[in-house]
Amino acid sequence: MHKITFIPGDGIGPEISNLAKRCLESMGVQIEWEEAIAGEEALKKFNTPLPNSTIQSIKKNKVAIKGPITTPVAGGFRSVNVAMRQVLDLYVCLRPYRSFLGASSKYENIDLIVIRENSEDLYAGIEFKQGEKDTKRIIEDIQRLEGSRISLDSAISIKPISEYASKRIFRFAFEYVRRNKREKITAVHKANIMKYTDGLFLESGREISKQYPEIEFEDRIVDNMCMQLILKPQKYDVLVLPNLYGDIVSDLCAGLVGGLGMSPGANIGDDVALFEPTHGSAPKYKGKNKVNPTAMLLSAALMLRYLKENTAADRLEKAIQEVIKEGKIVTYDLGGSAGTREMGEEIIRHTLHATR
Ligand code: NAD
Repeated sequence: MHKITFIPGDGIGPEISNLAKRCLESMGVQIEWEEAIAGEEALKKFNTPLPNSTIQSIKKNKVAIKGPITTPVAGGFRSVNVAMRQVLDLYVCLRPYRSFLGASSKYENIDLIVIRENSEDLYAGIEFKQGEKDTKRIIEDIQRLEGSRISLDSAISIKPISEYASKRIFRFAFEYVRRNKREKITAVHKANIMKYTDGLFLESGREISKQYPEIEFEDRIVDNMCMQLILKPQKYDVLVLPNLYGDIVSDLCAGLVGGLGMSPGANIGDDVALFEPTHGSAPKYKGKNKVNPTAMLLSAALMLRYLKENTAADRLEKAIQEVIKEGKIVTYDLGGSAGTREMGEEIIRHTLHATR
């Protein structure tokens, strides 16, 4: 019996996460769910978007699955998603992007893995607000220490990249490639401009690659990488990126396989893993029975693999593939008119056939 923390999420979160839960239950995977809340509901109930009880539940069960959570733009609380990754030290964001036959996409035969460093970079959320005393002090210190003039009316974000975090993400990536019989790692960076931060990231990758001589290692500058992914995505295998580029390139890759509705994800640490789709809470579709449940269900399949429930994971992925290939009961983004619920039910039905 697996004990798993279940966080429904905000916006479209509950619609898709409850479907994933039902899907795993109907396949007979032995799971005891422990429901915990985060985001808007937690803010109302506990006066904090990320209650300690939720963190404790994940720490105790070591595996969690969540729907997306809304983050207010500028002002309001900081991202609960980022906070969870930091507090639980989920330093890997793993996102597979695979073409599904029948999914409306301009590309075929995509099979990319994005491994995004999850703990530092501009995403660390270290920011200094415009006009405040500390911000002015930092601006003056920078001018004194480094010589650059920064306008005094600036806001400042800090981009920390460490050797420790860079090496551990590359170590994870090389081990992943070895375990999953993949072939090549491409490190993505902007080390030509950010020589110290991105330079350190790249150098760390090169260092670690020496321990894995059988795995091909190359690098690309992030802007060129974006163009290459549009022109010839099939040439790439596993991409390793610092946090911010990882975030942006993930969505680009989602576009290659039919959009955010098709893109699952996992946040992984040494001891704990949290599974969630790449997409956000799409508030405009909240309660409209509209969005594609596939990304959430594929995230559940990733979780099953993490739990070594490979047969169930295979069944679920096969069911998703069949429903998309048939193309009859699929959501708007796949060219259909079915709702979230109808597509989800159809996938559940297909997982049951797969047992016969
Ligand atoms: P979003 O991913 O929620 O939605 C962008 C657009 O993508 C949607 O309007 C919709 O057209 C499409 N889309 C997303 N999910 C889809 C699905 N399952 N099926 C079909 N189409 C889908 O991005 P956003 O609008 O920038 O963000 C909304 C909120 O979600 C923000 O508060 C943001 O901070 C948050 N967010 C949370 C997470 C997370 O919980 N991990 C991740 C990203 C964004």
